[in-house]
Amino acid sequence: MTSIFTKIIAREIPSDIVYEQENLIVIKDINPQAKIHLLIIPKKEIETIDHLEESDRELISDMFFVAKKIAQDLWITWWYKLHFNVWKAWWQEVMHLHLHLLSNI
Ligand code: 5GP
Repeated sequence: MTSIFTKIIAREIPSDIVYEQENLIVIKDINPQAKIHLLIIPKKEIETIDHLEESDRELISDMFFVAKKIAQDLWITWWYKLHFNVWKAWWQEVMHLHLHLLSNI
């Protein structure tokens, strides 16, 4: 089944896109839990961290480097949090891998 994030990536559903590159997109969370709440989302549909394959290594690395770049661009270095929820039991609602970036600065 196509995830809501894939629909966002395909522009079938509107969202506030803050950054995009070939293999991932960064959007504002629709229900922010902090002053800044962004989602770093691979374009490839990967359900959870548990579904990662060896070939995803570069993609995962890019997610972290993009998080670092965005924190620098927003001047929130030293004051932000990154987290993944994994599986519904630990509050993963959208079964398409995404890294949360939050800051209250
Ligand atoms: P999870 O709980 O799966 O780790 O986080 C999913 C996040 O996606 C939630 O923080 C939720 O607010 C956000 N979200 C769900 N649907 C949409 C949407 O249609 N647009 C945007 N921008 N964020 C969404």
